[in-house]
Amino acid sequence: MIGNLMKDGMQITNTTEDADVVIVNTCSFIDSAQEESVDTILESAQWRQLQKPHQGLIVAGCLTQRYRKELPSLMPEVDIFMGIDQVEEIATLVRQARARRQHRNESESAMPLEPSTQEASPKSPATPLMEVTARPRYIPDVHTARFRLTPPHFAYLKIAEGCNHPCSFCIIPRMRGSHRSRQPDDIIQEAKHLIADGVREINLISQDSTYYGLDLRDNPHRGISSPEKFKQASDALPEGASTLSSLLKELNALEGDFWIRILYTHPAHWTDELIQTIASCEKVVKYVDIPLQHIHPNMLERMRRETTRDYIEDLLQRIRKGIPEIAIRTTFIVGFPGETQAYFESLLEFVQTTRFERLGVFTYSHEAGTRAGSMANQVSDEEKAARRDQAMACQLEVSRAWGAKQVGRTMRVLIEGTADREAMQEAMVRSWEHGHLRSESETSAPDLEEGIEWMVARGQADAPDIDGRVYVRGKLPAHSFQHVRIIGHTDYDLLAEPA
Ligand code: SF4
Repeated sequence: MIGNLMKDGMQITNTTEDADVVIVNTCSFIDSAQEESVDTILESAQWRQLQKPHQGLIVAGCLTQRYRKELPSLMPEVDIFMGIDQVEEIATLVRQARARRQHRNESESAMPLEPSTQEASPKSPATPLMEVTARPRYIPDVHTARFRLTPPHFAYLKIAEGCNHPCSFCIIPRMRGSHRSRQPDDIIQEAKHLIADGVREINLISQDSTYYGLDLRDNPHRGISSPEKFKQASDALPEGASTLSSLLKELNALEGDFWIRILYTHPAHWTDELIQTIASCEKVVKYVDIPLQHIHPNMLERMRRETTRDYIEDLLQRIRKGIPEIAIRTTFIVGFPGETQAYFESLLEFVQTTRFERLGVFTYSHEAGTRAGSMANQVSDEEKAARRDQAMACQLEVSRAWGAKQVGRTMRVLIEGTADREAMQEAMVRSWEHGHLRSESETSAPDLEEGIEWMVARGQADAPDIDGRVYVRGKLPAHSFQHVRIIGHTDYDLLAEPA
C-alpha cells in the first residue's frame, strides 16, 4: 500500500495531525488482534471528530475481509473499507475518502435534519464505501510498487498467498482466499532486486510455503492437504515443474552473499527432495519453521491438521537425519476445545523429549465462524494460560540446555547493529516475549561492564523478530556476516566474541 501511494506521489506520515487521510491496516487472525484493530479505528474516528473533521478514514486488511457485511452499519464513521484485492487502488481510494468526508461534512451542516429522518442510500457519502471482494485473488509481483518497512539487511519475500487447508481453529483461508503461487521467474527477479539493494537475508513467506508451485499447473489434487495426497500430487508433477525445492535451488544459485530462510512450512507437505535441497544449498539456513499445533492424535484430528503423531515423529527424524545441525522451530496451541489434562500432558512429554531448538506456545483463541468455535468442551481462559506457562517453563529448560551446548562453538552470524545496553539488559530479563518465557531472575543476564560495546546479531537458528539473538562483544560492521565464538548464554540468547 505504501509503495503504491508513493508511486502516485503521495506523502506518508506517521503523525495523525499531519494526515489528510488515515489508513488503519487491520488484522483479524485472533480475537486480541481484532480488538486492537477496532480500538484503533474508533480512536482515529474520535480524534478526527475533535481535531480534524475533514480527515478521511480508510480501514484496510483482514478485519474488512472477515466482516465485510457487518462493518458499514457497525462503523458508519469510516469513509471507506477496502479489501485485499484493492491494494493497488489505494491512491484512488485515498482521494475518494477525502472527497467523501468533505461531502459528508458539508451535507450534514447544510441539512440540519434529525439523523433518523435522513435517508442514506448505500452509495451516498453518508454510508461508508465498501470496496471488498469476497474471495481475494490478489498477489503482488515484481512490478508491484514496494516500500520495505524492514531494516535494510533483511526482507520478507512473499512466494504465495492464501491457504487450502481446513484447520478447524483458523479463519485465514476465509479471509485470504485459496492458495495461489507466484511464478518462479517473478520471485527470482524480486530476489535479485533485493540482493542488489543490500539485503543479506531473504525470508520466504506465505501461508503454506511447502505447497508452493502445486497450483501453478492444472493439478487434480489442488486443495487436498493430507501427506498421502500431497505425495501423489508431487510424484505426478512433470520433470521441471516448480516446487519449493526448485525455487530454493534457483535462489541459491543467485550471485551474492546472502541467506535464504523459509518460514511457515506445513508438516503435511514435506518431501525427501525438500530435505535434501535444504541440506545441499549452502545459502539456505539450516532452520525449519514447521508449526505442528499439537501432537495428541485426538487433538490433531479435531484440529483437522491432516497429520498423525506417527507421521510427525517420522518426519522430524527424517529432517534431523537429512540436515545436520538443523534448528527446528515449531508452535503449539494449548487449550483447544476438548484438550483434556491427559492430552496436554502428552504434549508436554513431546516437548521434553523432542527438544525443539525454538518453540512458541499459544493459547487457543475462540474464533466465530470456525469449526472449533462451535465445538463442545471449550477450555477456560485460566486453564489455557496455566497450560501455556507450564509448556513454556518446560521449553525454558530445553532452551537453556541448547544455549549451553553452543558455548565454545564458532558460528556465522548476521550483524544487525549496535546493542543498546539498557535494551540488552532488559531483553535478557524480560519475562515474556513472542511467546517465549524469559526468566525473571537477573542472574542469567551477563554482567554488562561499562565501556564495552556489544552488537546484536542473529545466527542461522534465529529468524527475525521471533527467535533469540546473538550478542557479540566489540564493534563490528552492521549488516555484515561475521564468524563469532560463543562465550555464554542466557535463557534464549547467546553471547559471543569475534572469532
Ligand atoms: S495451514 Fe491451517 S493454520 Fe495455517 S493458515 Fe492454513 S488453515 Fe490456517
